[in-house]
Formats: sequence, structure tokens, C-alpha cells
Amino acid sequence: MIRDGRAVVNSLTVSRDGHRWHASVLCRIQQHIPTGPSRRHAAAGRIGADLGVKALAVFSDPLTLTPVAGPTTVIPNPRHINTTERKLARAQRVMSRRFVRGAAQQSKGYVEARARVAKLHAQVAARRTSTLHLISKRLVQQYAEIALESLNTKGMTSSAKGTLQSPGRNVRQKAGLNRSILDVGFGELNRQLSYKAAWHGATLARVPTFYPSSKTCSACGWINTELTLQEREFACRSCGIVIDRDANAARNIKNHAVPVQP
Ligand SMILES: [Zn+2]
Repeated sequence: MIRDGRAVVNSLTVSRDGHRWHASVLCRIQQHIPTGPSRRHAAAGRIGADLGVKALAVFSDPLTLTPVAGPTTVIPNPRHINTTERKLARAQRVMSRRFVRGAAQQSKGYVEARARVAKLHAQVAARRTSTLHLISKRLVQQYAEIALESLNTKGMTSSAKGTLQSPGRNVRQKAGLNRSILDVGFGELNRQLSYKAAWHGATLARVPTFYPSSKTCSACGWINTELTLQEREFACRSCGIVIDRDANAARNIKNHAVPVQP
């Protein structure tokens, strides 16, 4: 784009974040910004997206990430992310084992372990961000309106606690990990969508902060106040529908979101 004269470099910033260097290039480019959704967009209408830990995202309607993969409503966590997360959990255990409370200076082993945790954190974040970039691009390309949960409502949940009958293992680490990953995912997807939507004439919608998207029946509106985080299916005791928990949430998000003013 620079060679063709369609982009002008305004600034270049070099920074260091833990183990790696970043070069961030700010450019001014010419781009056609549509004033509204295209006919194809408008026909597709609104899609609801539920972000989670179990699956990366579950949608109310099909989304095509790649022509080869075809349309899907569930984006699983990429395998490499799960692998890195396991490594990360292990590295965090090593780090906490080597930590000496009250020591004026921590051991070399601790410093090394801390650097490894930071590196793995950065890897997980970078890979998730690049997957989220693909998702946000496809969402604004294929739908006129993207409905999401409000920021931080999901972040308060923890899926690692388990139940009284079967308590989770490494609850604290897992809960913290899940929460930070969810928070980062939400923030990042929101950030990407807020500028990409405008590029494609799409808009955003959000459900009210305390709307119970997981506990409400997407077919009849009945609320299951006793739904636990372990239940993967929503079984409605009012209308009888049985539906995947996240698919139910995605439909509720689609149906109850309020348009965000751009
Ligand atoms: Zn129902």
C-alpha cells in the first residue's frame, strides 16, 4: 500500500514487552467507508456471539471462517492454545513453588520461572488475538449487526470451582487463568469489532449488564435460577426445549441486545 501511494507512514514506535520487541507502524490510508450495511449484510441481519472458555465462541447463526471449513456456529479453542495453557499452568506451579516469602531477593530459579510464565502468557495472548482477528473480520463481513454480552459480566464467573460433590483441582490457578483469558478475549474482540464494524457498515449491539443470558430459556423466557456452571445443557422446565448451554446464551444475546450508538 505504501508503494502504491495508498498509505503514508505517520510514525513508527518500537517497544519491548518482556521477552520480545514490537514495532508498531501508524499509517494514514485511504479507505472507502460505507454509510450503511450492504443488501447482503442487511439480509443476514443480526448475529449473537457468546464468548467462553470451553469453546472460544458460540454463535446464534452460522459464520464462515474459511471457505474450506464452511459455515459453523461453534469456534473451538485452537489446539495450540490449549497446549500452551497447560504449559502455562505448569509453569505457574513451578514459579509459586520457587517463591520464598519475605526474601529480600528471589532465587535465580524463581526469576527464570517468572520469565517463562511471562513468555507463555504472551504466546497465549498473541495466538488468541490472531484468532479473534479472523473472527471479528468474518463477523463484520457477514452480518449487519453483531450482538455481544456487556463487558466484564462474564469475567466474574469462574468455571473451575467445581461442586461440593466434586471440587475442582487447582481451583485458584484455573479460575484466575480462565478469568484473565475471558477478560482479555472480551476486551480484544470488542476493541477489534468497534473499528472493523465501521469499515463494513455494520453496527454493534449489547445485552444489558445483568441480563442472565445463560439462565434464560431462549425459546420461552423461563429463567432457571439454579443453573450451575457445570451444566452444559439448558433443559427448560417450562417449554421442554433442551439446548446446548452456550447456543442458548448466544440466541438470548441475539434477541435481547440493544443497539450501541456508533
Ligand atoms: Zn422454555
